[in-house]
Amino acid sequence: MVEPASGASIETATALRVESLQKIFKRRSGARAQFVHAVNQVSFILHQGSVLAVVGESGSGKSTLIRMIAHLIPSSGGRIWLNDQEVPHRLGIQALLHYRRRVQMIFQDPFGALNPYYPVQYQMGRPLTNFGLARHANERQQAVERALEEVGLVPARDFLDKRAHELSGGQRQRVVIARALVVRPEVILADEPTSMLDVSIRMNILNLLKRLQHDFGLSYVFVTHDLASARHVSDHILVMYAGEAVEGGSTSEVIAEAAHPYTQLLLSAVPEPSREIPVGNPQVSGEPPNLAQLPTGCFFHPRCQYATDRCRKEHPAPQPVKAGHWAACHLYS
Ligand code: SF4
Repeated sequence: MVEPASGASIETATALRVESLQKIFKRRSGARAQFVHAVNQVSFILHQGSVLAVVGESGSGKSTLIRMIAHLIPSSGGRIWLNDQEVPHRLGIQALLHYRRRVQMIFQDPFGALNPYYPVQYQMGRPLTNFGLARHANERQQAVERALEEVGLVPARDFLDKRAHELSGGQRQRVVIARALVVRPEVILADEPTSMLDVSIRMNILNLLKRLQHDFGLSYVFVTHDLASARHVSDHILVMYAGEAVEGGSTSEVIAEAAHPYTQLLLSAVPEPSREIPVGNPQVSGEPPNLAQLPTGCFFHPRCQYATDRCRKEHPAPQPVKAGHWAACHLYS
């Protein structure tokens, strides 16, 4: 079996494993019901202390994927393991609380993620209280100050009484990251954490995530539409298209030798001053498909210059390209 999205050594412990995760939304179109296949049979392994970037255009299913893992929305099928323990499909209130402490999420919009009425200290102290991690006010304050220092908000005391509107965009996202860190999670699911920030701040936040990974051995799933950010921050990449995983492998391998025509298309859109000839094919264009009416065969075939009759009829299965690198494309079968 081709192990999806993993090139790390087999000895590395697993932080998170996802197998055949699936999400089908039902919606009405006039008198008829339509089924939207948002995520289709996605599998991956996240090794402890590593970063897996899930990359794709908007509508590729990457955010739905991590929302299912975070148990914010129920899955339609598939299995999840956290530290080799299977997570039940449905969790009771106590089990959900325990799971949320172990798996924290960082949202795209730091302004929306913070309550405008409460100061930083309260918003960061709440999870400590909810998860029973700090009983006394001074214990709580110490933990909050430590987390603020860890994300570079120093002196921490200056930030305790600030509200979201009193912080810059970068500071707000640091508070959101500190709030995730304060409960000492095992896995962090980061949903486009830099896409709403100014370019000048983006690199600082990416560097912060890298430093926290090394300092605390954190494991991240980092969702992004931007391959340049994925290249900077991740150890492995999983590329998604139309709800499916289409390529996976170590970041260096996928960036240097992108195998799937869709990954080549994404790479060709990354600005690269040293690149004279764009990677991939600049003629490839078009829009992602309607997830309620997916094309037959390979979902990418209407946009692919290499498409053959087989591509239009037969859905491609993942094929090994090199050790630890695979692509779901007939070019490799
Ligand atoms: Fe293109 Fe065919 Fe590969 Fe799909 S399977 S990406 S259509 S070559």
